[in-house]
Amino acid sequence: MNERSKIIAEVDAIYRWVDQQVKILDPSCRACGECCDFESFGHRLYVTTPELIYFQHAVGPEVKGISAGVCPYCINGKCTVYPYRFSGCRIFSCKGDSEKENAICEQAMGKFKVVCNKYPISYQYVYLKAGFEMLRTNGQFAIHNS
Ligand code: SF4
Ligand code: SF4
Repeated sequence: MNERSKIIAEVDAIYRWVDQQVKILDPSCRACGECCDFESFGHRLYVTTPELIYFQHAVGPEVKGISAGVCPYCINGKCTVYPYRFSGCRIFSCKGDSEKENAICEQAMGKFKVVCNKYPISYQYVYLKAGFEMLRTNGQFAIHNS
């Protein structure tokens, strides 16, 4: 298994952990997709470097850009990349307890930082639009030994 594959497996494990934590919160998200329209909903979604690597691995090199403040993977109110969505997408709920959500978010960030330290990749925590632009302009993230 090369370094990139190991990172994918680590992110996958973190997402499983996040899903478990969110399940305990039981936030009753009805998956309406309204919060994926960041501009009209007033929501900002941040993502980390390992998540961007994972996402690009899942959707392929042609990552879409964000225009009009809406996630380009939200089609007709549905997430078309649901299994690969970011930790912020998994944790945020408009009906949730923001303090508890923030606590999960902090722990998840800590886990993503550990992945970055373990493999030679820089840790970045950026707005989704900037993250997609990084993937679109730089291609694959450089990973030592990959
Ligand atoms: S990845 Fe999916 S859940 Fe996350 S903002 Fe985009 S459409 Fe919404
Ligand atoms: S968190 Fe709220 S706005 Fe976002 S998809 Fe779920 S129900 Fe809709």
